Amino acid sequence: MQNSNVIWEKVDQHKEDLITLSDRVFDMPETLYNEYRSVAEHKAMLEQKGFRITEDAAGIPTAVVGEAGDEGPVIAILGEFDALPYLSQEPGVAEPRPQEAGGNGHGCGHNLLGAAALLAATAVKDWIEDNGIKARVRYYGCPAEEGGAAKAFMVREGLFDDVDAAISWHPATFTAVNRANSLANTRIDFTFHGKAAHAAGAPELGRSALDAVELMNVGINYMREHMPDDARVHYAYLDAGGVAPNVVQHRATVRQLVRASDLPGLRSLIERVKKIAEGAALMTETRVESRVFTGVSNLIGNRPLEEAMQVEMERLGPVAFDETDAAFAREIQKTLTADDIAVSFRRVGMPAPDESLALCDFVAPLDLKGEGGEGSTDVGDVSWTVPTVQARVATCAVGTPFHTWQTVAQGKAPAAHKGMVYAAKVMAATAQRVIEDPALLARAKDLHAAHLKKTPYVCPLPDGVEPPIVPRPTS
Ligand SMILES: [Zn+2]
Repeated sequence: MQNSNVIWEKVDQHKEDLITLSDRVFDMPETLYNEYRSVAEHKAMLEQKGFRITEDAAGIPTAVVGEAGDEGPVIAILGEFDALPYLSQEPGVAEPRPQEAGGNGHGCGHNLLGAAALLAATAVKDWIEDNGIKARVRYYGCPAEEGGAAKAFMVREGLFDDVDAAISWHPATFTAVNRANSLANTRIDFTFHGKAAHAAGAPELGRSALDAVELMNVGINYMREHMPDDARVHYAYLDAGGVAPNVVQHRATVRQLVRASDLPGLRSLIERVKKIAEGAALMTETRVESRVFTGVSNLIGNRPLEEAMQVEMERLGPVAFDETDAAFAREIQKTLTADDIAVSFRRVGMPAPDESLALCDFVAPLDLKGEGGEGSTDVGDVSWTVPTVQARVATCAVGTPFHTWQTVAQGKAPAAHKGMVYAAKVMAATAQRVIEDPALLARAKDLHAAHLKKTPYVCPLPDGVEPPIVPRPTS
């Protein structure tokens, strides 16, 4: 029996609590394993809703898991709540206006992401309990999606070993089932060790680690011409050897962020980057050591789950935005370029920009071929471990680029709340389908197993690499 309306009603019953959670997390933007207050908010909500709670999941103090139900299949619903640095922004205004100079901001909408996932898990919990259904639902409160690869560490610790299917979503400008084409990536820190000397008095005695970093970047620039089109390498100087140009820099560190479309492609690119580092060390008579900071896998899709999610989205119809929502979205659109809006359409696979569209008023068909502009996500590692499906749900103006002040400005708007509640309904109803239809789950698992047989999963985190946990603040 498919009666998603009941589970949608459960979502509506709990939605006010979870909208409040989203807004509270918005107001305490925390980044990269510093999410102590945000995870406490999620834990308190899990307690309030009656979940069994595991704190410090995978040994990460800002990760939490809540579980409900007994026996049967285990459905994981994935949430996030981390923010981004330097994106502090007052909500509800269509101009850049930081709340705190240099402060953090929810530039990827993860305040909504986590709250909607917890809302979906709560609805599934109610439905399981009301009907005596043998199934378990788990809310995974995952920190540090932005650059911290927490889910990859959680996978490595076995947190998903008994899960049957994973469901998540991400705020977006359009409503669609997510295309699984994120990039695998790794962040590797290369530290060069040279020899200090007086840069004018005895330069012949010095060996510059900073020169080595520069030559490494030159080498990578030449490699770019000979990489696959979708591969990427970007860098940041972590230590340029100090501020004294009259000292030959004896130590310098560069972080290379290497991305490729899949794990085998990533591994081969990493070997080439390491050869360039060794070449730079040879040229400068320095010594190089490398250390993996984090790594994530590319996403793999799951057609049976994607089709099930699409059915639920089409049953729900588009997010019901109103004229007030559209008016604010149009104010935001005035701050965007025509390119921002065109890219947004290209990504979802729509042919031509419709400049009059302020907010998405449709559910995109499953087989639209969007193009370009993909990043990475640590959901990738979950998708290599269990069949995984994600929704993208419109929460902001068409064309809004993510990781910008415009995203933050819309993060507490009524339109964002509507998208969040919609996402919870899609996820809860998809979970219900998976639980009620063992044949669907079997198809999803068979496809997943076939993919892994062809390309086995190799964790992108080498042995010994631990999550870069930040100590709990004392005050
Ligand atoms: Zn995000």
